[in-house]
Amino acid sequence: MFSCGAFIRCMTPFILYGTLLSMKIRVRYAPSPTGLQHIGGIRTALFNFLFARSFNTEEGKFILRLEDTDRTRFDKSYVKNLYDTFNWLGFKWDEGPDIGGSFGPYIQSERTKLYKKYAQELLEKGHAYYCFCSAERIEDVRKKRESERSSETGYDRICRSIEPNKAAIRAAEESCTVRLKIPLGEKTIFQDQLLGDIEWLNDDINPDPVLLKSDGFPTYHLANVVDDHLMEVTHVLRAQEWLASTPLHIIMYRAFGWTPPEFCHLPMVMGQDGKKLSKRHGATSIDEFAKQGYLPEALLNYIALLGASYEESLDAKHPEIYTLDELAKHFSIKKLNKAPAVFDYKKLEWYNGQYIRMKSNEVLARLCLPYAIEKGLFAGESPTEQQRKIFLASMSLVKERLVFLSEVPEKIAYLFKEPDVPAKEEFIPKKCDLEKTIELLQIGKEIVKYLAQAINDEQSESFIKAEAEKREIKLGDLMMPLRVAITGSRVSPPLFGSLRLLGEECSLKRIEKAFARLTDCG
Ligand code: GLU
Repeated sequence: MFSCGAFIRCMTPFILYGTLLSMKIRVRYAPSPTGLQHIGGIRTALFNFLFARSFNTEEGKFILRLEDTDRTRFDKSYVKNLYDTFNWLGFKWDEGPDIGGSFGPYIQSERTKLYKKYAQELLEKGHAYYCFCSAERIEDVRKKRESERSSETGYDRICRSIEPNKAAIRAAEESCTVRLKIPLGEKTIFQDQLLGDIEWLNDDINPDPVLLKSDGFPTYHLANVVDDHLMEVTHVLRAQEWLASTPLHIIMYRAFGWTPPEFCHLPMVMGQDGKKLSKRHGATSIDEFAKQGYLPEALLNYIALLGASYEESLDAKHPEIYTLDELAKHFSIKKLNKAPAVFDYKKLEWYNGQYIRMKSNEVLARLCLPYAIEKGLFAGESPTEQQRKIFLASMSLVKERLVFLSEVPEKIAYLFKEPDVPAKEEFIPKKCDLEKTIELLQIGKEIVKYLAQAINDEQSESFIKAEAEKREIKLGDLMMPLRVAITGSRVSPPLFGSLRLLGEECSLKRIEKAFARLTDCG
């Protein structure tokens, strides 16, 4: 006989397999449009996105939800900044205000009726109560408790004792809020996927937080819990600053009779001094990084490493370089760090340089063009055909050393505008005098002429090397007066390439001006 127990044992692997196959993962990024998108927020969004994408696209969904219930700090420019930021970064949600989805609307201010309904449900179940205290009274209570150094802080829960029926009658006429009734004398325990078991004494939770404000708008707590439930969010990956809110969210899930999602509170992002990353450390908002000339791929690659590790990238030549697909493939909550992440601007710069060098000259030129136009490199709104050619060709001169796209206009300005002729001292190499410098510039002039008719670069190089050996002078010193004459600076992109782009005539003209400077008596 085949027993029932044996049948279940035999079927279990199939049942489990079936469950895994149909597993739905729904995560969300839920910013409040009360500020610009910054590193911390984008790290949260990216980890949610990568987590969703670590499953196949049918199973894992990434949602954008706008939590715009704080109307005093709301500004629509921040909504624009949000969309601009994600457009620039190039990763996108599967459901959201702009593209819709089956769980919309995805903007909380368009869902206020729902929150009222759920606040009402908590009132009816006795898990919430009306509060008629004025803002002034609440502030007085807070101050008094503070000055008396009372162990209790915040609101004194006075309206808890109003009989619910009487409160409901008053609520129809008086201005009031709805507060959550936190069960006192108990503990709230939950398991954080990263931090493990978290235990919170209910008496230590912010006393009976407001769920519905007097203007009918929900607070973050109510809207967040209701939406995560209605939108069937399975995992909440959010910054650790929200950890203290989670016990009260768990209390609300229980009060509604809902199963809470899994929580994973991400470690903070710090500056190198161990303090929370802020403007003091450098750029923090994403639009600043874009303006500075970072590439979105570099920024995302670096942000993805803030508090997470991955297996080595598949690209053997660039083991630390990951595409979004690779990151998603290797992302796992198990590989997140509990310790705060340290934001290292130097490392980010390194990433940017690496990504710049992986671009073709054509793509790089296209990316750098707006910076050049903004700096007025071409004198007009857009470059002429000839300028465009030079600009494209100049990419190979600057690419190897470039850290930011925005550096390009300054680095190659001498190719488009004749630089001011520097002071005499600028031309003079170490251990040389003026007379010797004039002599070197004379050789420079020969080099320019030679270059114009040389068959290839090797030929030019051996010509210059022979000149340097003949004069027992270092190559760099030999070229210095010529470099300053041509580029206006002692440090510049490669000189051969520059001379080639400028052409013989233009180069010789600059050399003549340099001679004039070196020989004037002033
Ligand atoms: N609206 C909250 C924020 O601005 C969302 C917190 C959460 O993810 O629950 O970060």
